[in-house]
Amino acid sequence: MGFFSTTKTIGILGGGQLGKMLLNTTRQWDINTHVLDPSAEAPARIACNKFVQGDLMDYQTVMDFGKNTDILTIEIENVNSSALADLEKQGVKVYPQAKVIEIIQNKCHQKVFYKKNKIPTAAFQLFESKEALKDAVARGLVSFPFVWKSESMGYDGYGVKMIRSNQDLEKVNEGGCLAEDLVNIDKEIGIIVCRNPSGETVSYPSVEMEFHPTANQVEYVLSPARIPKQIEKKAQEVALQVSQSYEHVGLLAVELFLTKDGEIWVNEVAPRPHNSGHYSIEASYTSQFEQHIRALLDLPLGSTQNKVSGVMVNLVGSINHKGPVHYKNIEHIMAIEGVNPHIYGKKETRPFRKMGHITIVNEELEIARQIAEQVKETIKVISK
Ligand code: ADP
Repeated sequence: MGFFSTTKTIGILGGGQLGKMLLNTTRQWDINTHVLDPSAEAPARIACNKFVQGDLMDYQTVMDFGKNTDILTIEIENVNSSALADLEKQGVKVYPQAKVIEIIQNKCHQKVFYKKNKIPTAAFQLFESKEALKDAVARGLVSFPFVWKSESMGYDGYGVKMIRSNQDLEKVNEGGCLAEDLVNIDKEIGIIVCRNPSGETVSYPSVEMEFHPTANQVEYVLSPARIPKQIEKKAQEVALQVSQSYEHVGLLAVELFLTKDGEIWVNEVAPRPHNSGHYSIEASYTSQFEQHIRALLDLPLGSTQNKVSGVMVNLVGSINHKGPVHYKNIEHIMAIEGVNPHIYGKKETRPFRKMGHITIVNEELEIARQIAEQVKETIKVISK
């Protein structure tokens, strides 16, 4: 062990809000932590023991940073995975492992992985270029409507487009991609699984994600999800199957579709803390961030049960506002019982940028959901 109040170090690749929230636990437990991020104003900078500014995709930068850590983890998946594989060879414990990051960095590899491991997922076809996809459409091998997904660097829906016509198809980016069957979605749910190096595995109850109709970003996360017991059971089984297949260490956020036919299909995963687990800071016995640190250190994993119901609202920049941020009406929402704001510390707002989140806790999920709507209508992320 030896990480508590010593110089043994956890390194985090990425210093955004997820890194900042991980640091609550390393601060609480007095664990030495280094952070690497390209931005001098990274939110996590204020809470780590050492901050290094540098490019997460650059091999040498990641090697130099990783060499000075005992355990290396990520809070964003766009990192140089060759460096991670080499650091593993040099004895650094990289969690999630480089092999897991390599698969999830590429949506095509991820889908092939599910197929190989007999994990239920929407049917798909792979294409090495936009031209190849257009050719398949012209030959009738792919028909409208379908979902186009770029193989790499997708984030918050930017690498995903509904394709209903040739005009839509023209607009997608160049590069390797996949065409996926459109799923008849009833609900989008998420399950966070956590696994430590000894193989102990725990999972959180399902959460329900409600999306913003135009921005394709999660607007509300409800915990627990409002789904029947047998669906919850099925979803948990699928999430565990995914976790066992990856053999990851640390958190694995599994995004699932509940179809109108009552099926559970895997959409994608993120092997790190996830937006869908922020509610756990206030609503669960063990937050996802503490759970991740427990797993990295091969400690016993904590209870994933809810203490109360929780609803999380993302605080994103208002449209037409760009510049120094101001949280209008924050004092009004704080007058409401059970409202917990988290401000990430990004100085500049822009439309739809994730600037913070608010978790509303209540014994009754429906009441928390109503308050969440009130919160959303009241607080505005603007620039003055
Ligand atoms: P990202 O990696 O950008 O988050 P996702 O693969 O999660 O992209 O897709 C973003 C959203 O697009 C999903 O949450 C869902 O609402 C919608 N979506 C993705 N795949 C499908 C599909 N096959 N059928 C219907 N909707 C989909």
